[in-house]
Amino acid sequence: MLRIKNVKIPVSDINQNESIKNKISKLYGLDIDLFKIYKLSIDARHKPNVFYVYEIDVDINDKKYLKFQDIEQVNDEIYSISTCKKELNKRPIVVGFGPAGLFCSYVLACAGLKPLIFERGKKIEDRVKDVEEFWNNNKLNINSNVQFGEGGAGTFSDGKLNTMIKEKVRQKFVFETFVKFGAPEEILYLNKPHIGTDLLRNVIINMRNEIIKLGGEINYNSTLTDLVIENNKIKKIIVNDSDEYETDNLVLALGHSARDTFKMLNNYLTMIPKPFAVGIRVQHNQGLISKNQYGDAYRYLKPADYKLTYQTKDGRGVYSFCMCPGGFVVNSSSEEGKLCINGMSNHDRGEENANSAIVVTVSPNDFGNNIFDGMKFQQELEEKAFKEGNGLIPISLYKDYKNNSVSSSFGTINPVFKGSYSFANINNIFPKYINESLIEAIEYFDNKIKGFKDEDTIIAAVEARTSSPIRILRNDDLISNIEGIYPCGEGAGYAGGITSAAIDGIKVAEKIVL
Ligand SMILES: Cc1cc2nc3c(=O)[nH]c(=O)nc-3n(C[C@H](O)[C@H](O)[C@H](O)COP(=O)(O)OP(=O)(O)OC[C@H]3O[C@@H](n4cnc5c(N)ncnc54)[C@H](O)[C@@H]3O)c2cc1C
Repeated sequence: MLRIKNVKIPVSDINQNESIKNKISKLYGLDIDLFKIYKLSIDARHKPNVFYVYEIDVDINDKKYLKFQDIEQVNDEIYSISTCKKELNKRPIVVGFGPAGLFCSYVLACAGLKPLIFERGKKIEDRVKDVEEFWNNNKLNINSNVQFGEGGAGTFSDGKLNTMIKEKVRQKFVFETFVKFGAPEEILYLNKPHIGTDLLRNVIINMRNEIIKLGGEINYNSTLTDLVIENNKIKKIIVNDSDEYETDNLVLALGHSARDTFKMLNNYLTMIPKPFAVGIRVQHNQGLISKNQYGDAYRYLKPADYKLTYQTKDGRGVYSFCMCPGGFVVNSSSEEGKLCINGMSNHDRGEENANSAIVVTVSPNDFGNNIFDGMKFQQELEEKAFKEGNGLIPISLYKDYKNNSVSSSFGTINPVFKGSYSFANINNIFPKYINESLIEAIEYFDNKIKGFKDEDTIIAAVEARTSSPIRILRNDDLISNIEGIYPCGEGAGYAGGITSAAIDGIKVAEKIVL
């Protein structure tokens, strides 16, 4: 099998497949019939000339073509789950059924270990109803919401799968597993793959059913409330303050919002505060973003995304986070009297606005060195957001945010939210240095995307849960200071996003299996 790279075809070309074959015939004298797309990205650096850039695999083994720079032999490493060789006296327990817990449980189940899973929230079918009830009637269920429940925080998301970590083999396995359970094939080759919340829910349901078929057991409405440790080794877990379950292997895949649980775990596990970022979420018309990113070629392409970074005059980092093309700004709260937001899109990214968090890095220098000072800082911002919005998402037009005043009506951009909102003075939510950093950055981003600082840009707050404010320490075997306990995923401070959390879950499962 040969892999041919750097095959560039104008995005305006409606016969992409034919043009690929013609290009390869012309470039390499190689006539192909069938090929498989291995990678597909967009090159918009030289607008108006915008290209699809393909890497394709062809079933040819003639070595004479290897003399060409862009042709190589395919030898991809395939991920395989090994069956467990050792006898485990007790079933492994996984707490938390987000991407980390889901993939950890899937690998344990495939290895024949019949994991016991505990999830404080509900199964997706019921969870969706609770989230809709919250968005429509502002009735929050503190254990079944955008953060908590089957599928974890990523369920109501854009389902963006790109990640910064270099884990090619396990990453491919994560994507292939998503496709096996119903995700669109394109995620295997798109440079920036995303599933979309509408499709992701079914994928998670199918994975859950497979884990059950393999002997796994999922307990919903089951909150880990305490641990029983003997001789520095995990003995039991306590669920819902009463039910006891014995195990020698406990995976804690709790996510970044399990604040009550982290406080309990602090009695047993060594953890440290860690930096994160907080800020606002901005909404622009999607057309503005796509035209900026692709020029006139935008009409041939899906809604564009963007990634922006800036360092303020006083050296503070500000960047765009979890950008959602054609999506919604959602109320993602999980605690009474506190309000936070995030972004979500369906697979088609068909909404009229693009939204993204614009966040400022904060560290123990800003909020204190005690383990939970970061968490307290997040909660204080969320309380202020709740108060400033009278329990609804506090929003403002950019011009009024800049003028430290309250908007009274929308301008040229229509609001696209999941959850009710109210005009408020966003400045009252953040410390001065954060407001100043955000405004300084948005003014700068207008150089990158013309119109980014448009007066009518819709601002909402608060984006407070960009990553976990703590890290639970673990050794090279991924075990905490207590034998048999595996801190895992985003909540434990070892992942940031769906794919990296899933990969961390797989790595922990491997430690238990092998
Ligand atoms: C609205 C939104 C949109 C997002 N969009 C994206 C995106 O597009 N792409 C991306 O890569 N990332 C996105 N993220 C981030 C991503 O969802 C997380 O990084 C990822 O879900 C982390 O996975 P995890 O398994 O470590 O934790 P989580 O997904 O947070 O799962 C933890 C699970 O543990 C459960 N739990 C917590 N405490 C207990 C307890 N005591 N007992 C039992 N169960 C417990 C929770 O109910 C939850 O289901 C988004 C997040 C949100 C909130």
